[in-house]
Amino acid sequence: MSQPQMRRAIESGVPDNRQFLHPLLIKNYGNWKYHDRPRPGVLHHVSHSGDEVWTVRAGTQRQMDVFTIRKLCDIADRFAESHVRFTIRSNIEFMVSSFAKVGPLIQELEASGFPVGGTGNSVSMIAHTQGWLHCDIPGTDASGVVKALMDDLYDEFRREEMPNRVHMSTSCCEINCGGQADIAIIVQHTKPPKINHDLVANVCERPAVVARCPVAAIRPAMVNGKPSLEIDEKKCMCCGACYPPCPPMQINDPEYSKLAIWVGGKNSNARAKPTFMKMVAAGLPNNPPRWPEVSEVVKRILHAYKSDARAWERMSDWIERIGWPRFFEKTELPFTKYLIDDWRGARANLNASTHIRF
Ligand code: SF4
Ligand code: SF4
Repeated sequence: MSQPQMRRAIESGVPDNRQFLHPLLIKNYGNWKYHDRPRPGVLHHVSHSGDEVWTVRAGTQRQMDVFTIRKLCDIADRFAESHVRFTIRSNIEFMVSSFAKVGPLIQELEASGFPVGGTGNSVSMIAHTQGWLHCDIPGTDASGVVKALMDDLYDEFRREEMPNRVHMSTSCCEINCGGQADIAIIVQHTKPPKINHDLVANVCERPAVVARCPVAAIRPAMVNGKPSLEIDEKKCMCCGACYPPCPPMQINDPEYSKLAIWVGGKNSNARAKPTFMKMVAAGLPNNPPRWPEVSEVVKRILHAYKSDARAWERMSDWIERIGWPRFFEKTELPFTKYLIDDWRGARANLNASTHIRF
């Protein structure tokens, strides 16, 4: 009788994570009794079996060279138990089975330039999109903004002194694969795309590009005897959605591509329902390599939130309680016409009513 055949490896999708887990995590999978946080950056899990695991969380720059990865693996071998994992916010976590290993591990991580923190009511690492390194349509960097900003928020990462957790994100185009956040930094194009008519016929599928525009601002046109496209600039809302399928419709511009800051989004159902964020600062300069203007506004919002919110209020809860007019007063951000959300489906959100005056 022939032997049963081994199943062939599936070469797509994520691999089974259990092969990479710390042995105590596999042993106690689904059997945890409780967890607590003995100090910022350290999680302590206790199992019904009596096993205990301490997890030390450190911040990374996310896009890492091989030398940094080797350094982190080396720390895992020498000071932890050779197991690490990454969180969705690009923090790295080291698991150990004894409290005695926690102190030396923290000391080594901090001495090597990896701050320990990001747990509980801290400003955790910023979830960010791909930026200049990987994506083909960014108007700014994402990792660079994150690095510059987290350098400024270093102490808020290492402490748990915020009213509740603060989740931030950055997105390097208006398509915004960064998602909702308490504070989000998102590219904002302020001029319609410029069309390179010589290339459109060779590069773009015109019906697909016309269909892509959310406000029907693009139409087919003949330019210099060649099939091309034209934009009704009065309709165009500068979203940049036409640029990915048609690179000759260039929208990135060193002067007119700006950064905007949005606040009050969250995904969780804890305490209050999930919320969409709203724009509170527009037209900030896209100013690499440190983006100081963005950092200034973010710090101002964080400072107001930290000093005024009640315990356990997320950013959206705080704004809901004090109202948008007082949010702008307390953060001393100017309320301008660019912040009015006049999309007709947006009746229930920021300043949809013409009767609101600031
Ligand atoms: S936000 Fe836009 S440019 Fe940045 S990675 Fe996502 S899709 Fe690409
Ligand atoms: S930028 Fe957006 S609104 Fe403007 S033409 Fe392109 S898809 Fe349409």
